[in-house]
Amino acid sequence: MQADIVAGGEFDLIRRHFTRPSPAGMLGVGDDCALLPDTGCATAVSTDLLIEGRHFFADVDPRALGHKALAVNLSDLAAMGARPTAFVLGLALPRIDDAWLSAFAQGMFALADAHGCPLVGGDTTRSLAGVTISVTVFGAVPADGALRRAGARPGDDIWVSGPLGDADLALRLLSGDSAVPVDDRAAALAATRRALEWPAPRVALGLALRGLAHAAIDISDGLLQDLGHILAASGCGARVCADEVPVSAAVSALPPAWRRQCALAGGDVYELCFTAPPEARTRVAEAASDTGAAVTRIGTIEAASGLRVVDGAGAPLPGLPHAGFDHFA
Ligand code: ADP
Ligand code: MG
Repeated sequence: MQADIVAGGEFDLIRRHFTRPSPAGMLGVGDDCALLPDTGCATAVSTDLLIEGRHFFADVDPRALGHKALAVNLSDLAAMGARPTAFVLGLALPRIDDAWLSAFAQGMFALADAHGCPLVGGDTTRSLAGVTISVTVFGAVPADGALRRAGARPGDDIWVSGPLGDADLALRLLSGDSAVPVDDRAAALAATRRALEWPAPRVALGLALRGLAHAAIDISDGLLQDLGHILAASGCGARVCADEVPVSAAVSALPPAWRRQCALAGGDVYELCFTAPPEARTRVAEAASDTGAAVTRIGTIEAASGLRVVDGAGAPLPGLPHAGFDHFA
């Protein structure tokens, strides 16, 4: 207990907003530790911090924030082909705002329920400035069945799920970037905002890709940067056709340079990028359609190191800014 927290306040808050009956076989909120059952699998663990002013705007819809705080973590499980088991929540709050907390919890629990991933514990404290949210998820995956970054092989197809670029366009519009070349900013924001605030983690697709994909990553910092992590881990290179990368109508309407920038370097996407051998094309397409995901082939893994981005005619696009998001750049 910290001196600046009123006991009734902290524990009442946890009881009101974050305590639900423990799922069968688990010990959840209320004891010193949660207890998770032995699944016979490896435990996949991932954690993400979301900081007000850096990862979200102070006035964001708290339901969307609750959703996204869990979604970005579930997306990491998806990238490994792990099945969500449970999660814990760390919260630092400048004050207790019940309406805000209730909406935040609603958004978070709706996604948790959809993935059968209960909240089993956490920590709550007062912050001196702004809201900080830390979520840690646990998932189950057969130890030798996890999708890794390191498995790509020359000749593999490179695939991505979803249209890319919407979240980046929405972020630019919300940030008041006046250079964005759209005629109707309100319409463009209305068309893209959902991708930024309500990303849908591709958990089912990740599970379906077990035994099929050679390597996978979720796109959080931009396609080219995240694909670069697969290439570095796998010790190979790639050729990507920029104009094959799937985009929405809103991103497609941008001038080519902007379209490519949003689709190839835009972050906050939470779609999967993965590689698979050409003989698995039909099975990849089936896995995607079974799980309601759209997947597109955008290039090929090559033995020569480096990432070669070309346009629809095969001409190199050297001027493309490859860098995605880097907090310390
Ligand atoms: P301890 O002091 O033993 O770490 P706490 O007093 O911090 O325990 O928390 C009491 C209980 O409430 C614990 O079971 C903890 O996991 C849970 N808890 C605290 N904050 C949260 C939260 N934000 N979400 C879910 N559970 C929480
Ligand atoms: Mg504690």
